[in-house]
Amino acid sequence: MATTTEAAVSRVSALVDGRLESPDRDLHPVNNPATGELIAEVSYAAAADVDRAVRSAHSAFLEWRDVPVVDRVQPLYRFKALLESHANELARILSTENGKTLDDAKAEVRRAIQMVEVACGMPSLMMGDSLENVSRGIDSHTIRQPIGVCAGITPFNFPAMVPMWMYPFAIACGNAFILKPSEKVPMTPTRAAELLMDAGLPSGVFTLLHGGKEAVDALLKHPQVRAISFVGSTPVAKYIYATAAAEGKRVQALGGAKNHMVVMPDADIPKSVDAIMSSAFGAAGERCLAGSVLVPVGDVAEPLLTALLDRCNSLKVGDPAESGTGMGPLVTKEHRDRVAGYIDRGIAEGAEALCDGRDGVSSQGFYLGPTVFDHVTPRMSIAREEIFGPVLSVIRVDSLDSAIDLINSVPFGNTTTIYTASGKAAREFATRIEVGMVGINMAVAAPMAFFPFAGWKQSFFGDLHAHGKDAVSFYTEQKVVMSRWF
Ligand code: NAD
Repeated sequence: MATTTEAAVSRVSALVDGRLESPDRDLHPVNNPATGELIAEVSYAAAADVDRAVRSAHSAFLEWRDVPVVDRVQPLYRFKALLESHANELARILSTENGKTLDDAKAEVRRAIQMVEVACGMPSLMMGDSLENVSRGIDSHTIRQPIGVCAGITPFNFPAMVPMWMYPFAIACGNAFILKPSEKVPMTPTRAAELLMDAGLPSGVFTLLHGGKEAVDALLKHPQVRAISFVGSTPVAKYIYATAAAEGKRVQALGGAKNHMVVMPDADIPKSVDAIMSSAFGAAGERCLAGSVLVPVGDVAEPLLTALLDRCNSLKVGDPAESGTGMGPLVTKEHRDRVAGYIDRGIAEGAEALCDGRDGVSSQGFYLGPTVFDHVTPRMSIAREEIFGPVLSVIRVDSLDSAIDLINSVPFGNTTTIYTASGKAAREFATRIEVGMVGINMAVAAPMAFFPFAGWKQSFFGDLHAHGKDAVSFYTEQKVVMSRWF
């Protein structure tokens, strides 16, 4: 059976009931964004495929939930070792189908492995509380139990890491898990799934389905799916949240972003520019934590923009596999064209392009260089809408108060960063800002696996965040037992 590792143009496999399947119907192309070449084909699951997969997952769940948690984490320990020994291979696959640089892909794989490491601590993480003698002769304790079949729907920009925000935790908690990764980058999650099977996870505990809206809708509506974890754009996150909740399911839906980077007059300019370059243009701006609006406060704007433009002009845009490349291509031609459309809109709306990412890039592959717009106003679409590409809008303000008001007026609330030497300003910012993840002098303030991850406002729909202790709460039911013995 074809797998992701065999031929130049491979057929990407699904994994159902412990078996790899590569049907040859409803095939869709996967392209290498650096060259535009066809590298794989993937068959989209139909509603009937989803139903068969959910039934198999449910049968597996009925046995898996009774396996002691110390035994449930053993395949995850072996999975972690396999991920370590295949880290470079996974990073190569990831970089080839997504376009991020090889170094960035390796860093993503490292973050993915950390999720598995934390989930291996489930025997401690899942413990409940107890109190003796809550009333005379009566003791009480809480237990956490798995909920059943859980499903995850993930985006194209972190095909190794984002699925692992979900399934290592869900599986260690005793659930069965069905992953429907982005159809644009199906090869990385498939290779990881093969390794998970090699680690000895029982058949059906983990299922991998590929596809688009039909597969997602079938998961949202299936009565045996109890919980949905989603990461992607805001319009789809809203739809997932509303549809799954109406079906009585537990949902966490992480959405899109418009992230601001505030630079105070006392900031260290060279170090801040390093961080801003990495935030705005790392992974070609295709990160939910990418800084996309630069907010210089007062007279820092001139020296900051001079230093930033110097760096943009020397940024190496090109083959993501080559060492020294600072930015690879965008994920698809459609997405590259959409981002280029925002450059047109910025110019039409009256912003000043200090550099234009369409200049001087290779026409082979889906490339754009960095674009910086100065004199952007808060009403312009490039200031308000998620572009998800290497386009940075500069909105100049005169005070920290104005910067905070600006950020709090934006409908998204994923992340934001302040660059300053003042603890007072940093504290004020962190306290008053209506955003879920805050950085102080950071490039990308991505919470580690043992902390929760999610934004606020239109960047998140739900209650319990991704990974950390929230994942344990999300993937378990809590039960309170009170006992009296005569
Ligand atoms: P997307 O919303 O287009 O797709 C995400 C997933 O939803 C994919 O698996 C896709 O197949 C599925 N999907 C798409 N349209 C659907 C529909 N109409 N009905 C049902 N399912 C549908 O997102 P993307 O382009 O793959 O990823 C980029 C987006 O993800 C950006 O908006 C980014 O900010 C966001 N993102 C957010 C976070 C976060 O932590 N908040 C993390 C990573 C990415």
